[in-house]
Amino acid sequence: MKFGTKVIHAGIEPDPVTGAVMTPIYQTSTYAQESPGQHKGYAYARGHNKTRNVLQANLAALENGQFAFCFGSGMAATSTVMQLLNPGDEIISTDDLYGGSYRVFTKVFERFGLKYQFVNMDSMEELEKRITPATKMFWVETPTNPMLNIIDIVAVCNLAKKYGIKVCVDNTFASPYLQNPLDLGADIVVHSATKYLGGHSDLVHGCIIVNDKETADNVYFLQNAVGAVPGPQDCFLLLRGIKTLHLRVERACQNAKKVAEFLLTHPKVDKIYYPGFESHKGHEIAKAQMRDFGAMVTFNLKDDTFEAAAKVMENVEYFTCAESLGGVESLIGHPASMTHASIPRENRLKVGLTDSLIRLSIGVEDVEDLIEDLQKALDA
Ligand SMILES: *Cc1c(COP(=O)(O)O)cnc(C)c1O
Repeated sequence: MKFGTKVIHAGIEPDPVTGAVMTPIYQTSTYAQESPGQHKGYAYARGHNKTRNVLQANLAALENGQFAFCFGSGMAATSTVMQLLNPGDEIISTDDLYGGSYRVFTKVFERFGLKYQFVNMDSMEELEKRITPATKMFWVETPTNPMLNIIDIVAVCNLAKKYGIKVCVDNTFASPYLQNPLDLGADIVVHSATKYLGGHSDLVHGCIIVNDKETADNVYFLQNAVGAVPGPQDCFLLLRGIKTLHLRVERACQNAKKVAEFLLTHPKVDKIYYPGFESHKGHEIAKAQMRDFGAMVTFNLKDDTFEAAAKVMENVEYFTCAESLGGVESLIGHPASMTHASIPRENRLKVGLTDSLIRLSIGVEDVEDLIEDLQKALDA
């Protein structure tokens, strides 16, 4: 089954009771048992909910995985992966990591004895030097936020296999339409389904997808034991959002390319970070491991000040100034004062995250309007 068919049909069948074409919202916490302990596989909704199960089957298919598990947020999914590990285990992660992941790793899981190294994953020789006997997992995020660096998933997985290390990829920025890490050798995929999978900025949700039965059993145990499960209403919304994932992401990618090309021509724009440009240092890797280059575009201004960035952001009409990404509507964000404000300025500057850096999440509007909007705001 191809991708555009999977989003609509994989794991989804008309409701056996009524024939409802759309998966019903099973808004129930418990299920009637015929006699004590005898039920239809559904005993209590933390363990199983039909709306969630259908969604999980669909998500597994999208990532070419055997098993998927849903959670109340991307961070709940991330935390569940950490709970697969034991005190003393070490995780090597990228140094350009989603802020919420960095926070939960260092402020929560370090307290429970997990150890972290944050490294640049461009060079496999450098990464190999950091491996210790305690290293149990590589945590990869690609493309990264907001600099849109690309990490070579195949290279990281090959190195990991040599040492028996598991690889988990946060695939949020690419979405399963653009990139399938399990096919590239990863063991675990996590998503903040809040972003492209949901696609309409109307829910918070996360998921884990794996192929290996033992890991799946352990993730299911944690899903039920720890209990960070999503409600059935959000599972329904996510199922609905996913049906157009391929159409949305395809259009958003086309729009992003045109927006990036427009920015290239504007005299006030300094650097543009977009993996679709041949000049981007991760371009060849992105071409090899992604179907398209994504719909995120980051740039900074020649007048590299907070005030200059604020002026652009205040003068856009169709772009909404907001955190998050991956919805049908275009968003504009200023990482230095919004998502990355808690990172000291010197550290931000080291990775290129300057005072005027602006991040665009390109939506599916008519691109002529988006470009006109940016033109006006930049000229203001
Ligand atoms: C948003 C995001 C998360 C966290 O997901 P929530 O659904 O907000 O909990 C994790 N990783 C990446 C890359 C994200 O963009």
